[in-house]
Amino acid sequence: MEVSEKKQIKMYSEKDLVGKGGKFLVLNALETSIFCREKFSEEQKMIASSAEDYAKEQLKPVSNELNNVLNEELTRKIFKEVGELGFLSVDVPEKFGGLELDKTTASIVVDCLSSGESASIMVSISAHTGIAMLPIIWYGNDVQKEKYLPKMASGEYIGCFALTEPGAGSDVLAASTKAELNKEKTHYILNGQKIYITNGSWADVSVVFAMVGNKYTAFIVEKDCEGFVVGAEEKKLGIKGSSTATLFFENCKVPIENMLGEVGQGGPIAFNVLYPGRYKLGVTTCAGAKYLTTGALDFAFEREQFSRSVSNFGMIKNKFANMVTKSWESDSINYMTTGAIDEAINSLDKTSDNYYEGVQKIIEDHSIEASISKVLGSETLAYTVDEGVQIMGGAGFIEEYPMAGAYRDERINRIFEGTNEINRMIIGGYVLKKSILEEIPIRMCIQEREDNWIPSDKIDDDSIEYFKVVEFCRSLLLNITNHLILTYGQDLKNEQWILEPFADMVISFSIIDIGFKRLYGLEKNDHKENTERVFRHSLANHYYEILNNSKLILEHLPNDEINNKIEENLNQLNYKPDRIKYKQDIVNDLYKFKKYYLD
Ligand SMILES: Cc1cc2nc3c(=O)[nH]c(=O)nc-3n(C[C@H](O)[C@H](O)[C@H](O)COP(=O)(O)OP(=O)(O)OC[C@H]3O[C@@H](n4cnc5c(N)ncnc54)[C@H](O)[C@@H]3O)c2cc1C
Repeated sequence: MEVSEKKQIKMYSEKDLVGKGGKFLVLNALETSIFCREKFSEEQKMIASSAEDYAKEQLKPVSNELNNVLNEELTRKIFKEVGELGFLSVDVPEKFGGLELDKTTASIVVDCLSSGESASIMVSISAHTGIAMLPIIWYGNDVQKEKYLPKMASGEYIGCFALTEPGAGSDVLAASTKAELNKEKTHYILNGQKIYITNGSWADVSVVFAMVGNKYTAFIVEKDCEGFVVGAEEKKLGIKGSSTATLFFENCKVPIENMLGEVGQGGPIAFNVLYPGRYKLGVTTCAGAKYLTTGALDFAFEREQFSRSVSNFGMIKNKFANMVTKSWESDSINYMTTGAIDEAINSLDKTSDNYYEGVQKIIEDHSIEASISKVLGSETLAYTVDEGVQIMGGAGFIEEYPMAGAYRDERINRIFEGTNEINRMIIGGYVLKKSILEEIPIRMCIQEREDNWIPSDKIDDDSIEYFKVVEFCRSLLLNITNHLILTYGQDLKNEQWILEPFADMVISFSIIDIGFKRLYGLEKNDHKENTERVFRHSLANHYYEILNNSKLILEHLPNDEINNKIEENLNQLNYKPDRIKYKQDIVNDLYKFKKYYLD
């Protein structure tokens, strides 16, 4: 095919990519739109408002107690209350007493409950509704569903998910807990231990993974099973109001009917339920970052030094501008992810026997998005809390104020649901896999742009500069992807020095691409103007991040062609952001609203 021909022919379109994860990599804002909180339905808004009311009225007043001390009675009371309100049954099929709503609504519930400002109860609730209930919803037979789901949905039962072992952390499949069928073939006998299990001491029902021979298998274990022993509570750095315990299985007798799925299905069960756990963690951490920004702001307005409020100092304003931008970025990725998953799930036949298989495939297919949500949310919260302490000075270090507790609570988010290193491996690894298998047309996109890294699509004047920067970054990222595939092929997943900056390029690119699509889809009004001021800061930051990470990779793996293209296109782009001005504008808005203002 001649080059001139190539330029004219569009080789793929959104239609080819309906429902596919990772499609943001190859579709621009004129070719597709994304879901975001501005598109919540009326029903979703109603649920949001009811969860927020409950959180503010019932959780916030007891947040100190919920966060800092283990209180099983109070936790159980809250579980029953949120159960009654339907917040534990969003994913549960109607047939078993649930609401069976979409993934966006499930995220909205944890988002809005987070405004109760108790990280511990959110960890307990999220573990229960996510990793404990989803295995039963997705893999349980009707008898198991009937037996456990209504009680878990009402909050009468608390659930946990027991995967981690002393020798099997990130490498979950290295488990040594064993399950052997007894002579009578009535029970599996479990021996081994699971560590660091959320809700461990309180759980009435545990989803436990063990080896049957050499096959990784899941079981539902009830708390009164013979041989099931709960160890002491861990003394933790943070989230002290949530239970974390070791579970011992000492010839633990589990009835054969409590096997979940089939022998050998433990791997898919474990991995598949972790994906929604990741984007939901993105949602709760983002929500935390927003209310902590507001908390730090309240303090800064009050605190005077050198005869003025500390909020007047440029170095303090700088931190607030970054907090707002990062929260908005994280929020954009979170709901783009749930919206993309919902859109794909909507095309499934709910009455089909394979419905949940289809749901899982779709969620797994969006693992790039889910991992980005998790990494971005947890790192946004980490930044916000760290700078929140700094803004408060000495008071930030004193337990009387909530920021010190938040500083401790925040840390776990970068460790569980797959450490951020493991999630970066997933991001880089899946982009590689999807490119090699041509699940997303990365090579076609590169081919289309061979002579024109910045396509000149017709877009309104207000957006043209943003569009060009995003499209330059897309071309750069995709060319680096191709370069890495040609250099390493499948082995790229083992080249972590390269994989990490590559994953960071993907994260940065997703932020500007999704941010632009969110902004571009907004109606012209004040909200759009406020959003635009945040977006242009985000765009400039991640443009430099992408350039820096590509330079890091190209220093190690030189490629003259890409280097020349970068030079050539940077000249053409002539992009000259003024980030200090952008941040000043964001802070002006923030100080007017006196809280995070883009929800
Ligand atoms: C409060 C709390 C609650 C928890 N709740 C649960 C629960 O409910 N259920 C459950 O099953 N587990 C739970 N966990 C366990 C948690 O999921 C694990 O701690 C986590 O997956 C990391 O495993 P690890 O601690 O063994 O760290 P390791 O896997 O030993 O990792 C150590 C370091 O090495 C890095 N690393 C490991 N492998 C790689 C690699 N291939 N490439 C690059 N870097 C790598 C990690 O990122 C990390 O920085 C919980 C843990 C805590 C602390």
